[in-house]
Amino acid sequence: MAYDVIIIGAGPAGIFTALTLAESGVGNVLLLEQGKDLAGRERGRREDVLSGWGGAGAFSDGKLTLSPEVGGFLGEFLAPDALDALLAATDARYVAHGAPAEVFGEQSPGLEELADQARLADLKLIPSRIRHIGTDYCPRVLERFRSSMAGKVEVRTGCRVAEIRVEGGRASGVALESGELLPCRFVVAAPGRSGAGWMKDQAGALGLQTQASPVDIGVRVELPGAVLKRITDLTYESKFIYYCRTFDDKVRTFCMNPYGEVVTEWHGGITTINGHSYADRRGENTNFAILVSSAFTEPFDDPIGYGRYIARLANFLGGGAMVQRLGDLLAGRRSTPDRIARCLTRPSLREATPGDLSFVFPYRHLLGIIEMLQALEKVAPGVYSRHTLLYGVEVKFYSNRIQVSPEMETGVENLFTVGDGAGITRSLIQASASGVLAARAVADRVRAG
Ligand SMILES: Cc1cc2nc3c(=O)[nH]c(=O)nc-3n(C[C@H](O)[C@H](O)[C@H](O)COP(=O)(O)OP(=O)(O)OC[C@H]3O[C@@H](n4cnc5c(N)ncnc54)[C@H](O)[C@@H]3O)c2cc1C
Repeated sequence: MAYDVIIIGAGPAGIFTALTLAESGVGNVLLLEQGKDLAGRERGRREDVLSGWGGAGAFSDGKLTLSPEVGGFLGEFLAPDALDALLAATDARYVAHGAPAEVFGEQSPGLEELADQARLADLKLIPSRIRHIGTDYCPRVLERFRSSMAGKVEVRTGCRVAEIRVEGGRASGVALESGELLPCRFVVAAPGRSGAGWMKDQAGALGLQTQASPVDIGVRVELPGAVLKRITDLTYESKFIYYCRTFDDKVRTFCMNPYGEVVTEWHGGITTINGHSYADRRGENTNFAILVSSAFTEPFDDPIGYGRYIARLANFLGGGAMVQRLGDLLAGRRSTPDRIARCLTRPSLREATPGDLSFVFPYRHLLGIIEMLQALEKVAPGVYSRHTLLYGVEVKFYSNRIQVSPEMETGVENLFTVGDGAGITRSLIQASASGVLAARAVADRVRAG
């Protein structure tokens, strides 16, 4: 039997594609996911972190970033009003499936004042509206999405697609790793970060136009929640942008977690750093990332490889994640267990090895991070304290960007690609919204016969 639509990947992008198709009355839809079903996934298990029903979103912090300027490139395909409407409709579906009603960071006089202060410190504040589901509630919301499509979409987990099939310049089905061939009229590939390498190979084999993305490398900063309280009370997640005086590199804050914790992530052989926060549990520290963006020019075209190389160096020296007091970094000495024990900021990630990040980062990255901390000190006194902790390495690998139409269709007819794996988005909400865009176009064509 041929399916109308096969969706590859059950992350937010694939799930929203499926939900939208089901709501549009497209009945013959198959959703394939290489990882486990939600109930079988375990947070502590490396292979479950990025893969399985819910994708990387299942164990994410669940911050729905509602401002169109951040979290992806959908603004390049849609007019501002259309994008606002799409994000609002996508967000509403999260709320209908159990995301909390509260939105942080709505415009307030305090925010204007903060933006002015930021300008004086050479920083740009990006106002960011956020709905926070919380790591503890994400699986529940995803479970409700699963129930909503029950009986309307066929879902197979533990099922890896080996290859997208094309005949006569048009998508014709997929081949599974098991050898099974599944014919269909439309393919929507939503493989996420964990499937980015696979997607790159598919793009190469099918002759799809791609473009390398920059790689963002930096540290996770941890400090007492009180230092950023004024800002996190106002915006929950503040995004500041700074341009390094020496190199003019773009440096930004990312993923701020008020009263959250620092965690490690496993990326196919390397340990990297991340952070998250719970909706119901409150720690004593706030953490956020400082990331330096690097884009490379010819002949080098492997930014992901570069990011992995830096992260591997931190693992090589520290045996895994590394932590250093800012005071030690500035004094040119490593942090030791004794020095960390004397630190007024108590590390929430206990397993990080006290070390020396100056052995890990290239000069331009280290300088960008230090300059950013100095600038932040002007809007939040206490950031540039000796007791601020820096964890390395946090890396954001962005997939090669695949050229698509505003409907998310690739150069191959009836082959669509959406979400982070296509390099089009970088967040839950935009990944989900890109799935809606593809599904609307596919539903129109299925109805047209
Ligand atoms: C720890 C962590 C915290 C995060 N926190 C936030 C946050 O608070 N807010 C936010 O907006 N974003 C957050 N993100 C990012 C967010 O999770 C992603 O932007 C989002 O999940 C992307 O959705 P996606 O559907 O494109 O891809 P994914 O969620 O990565 O899903 C892709 C799915 O496709 C499957 N797949 C891949 N290849 C194949 C194949 N060949 N065959 C079958 N299946 C395949 C994968 O197993 C995976 O399950 C976080 C990410 C991580 C890792």
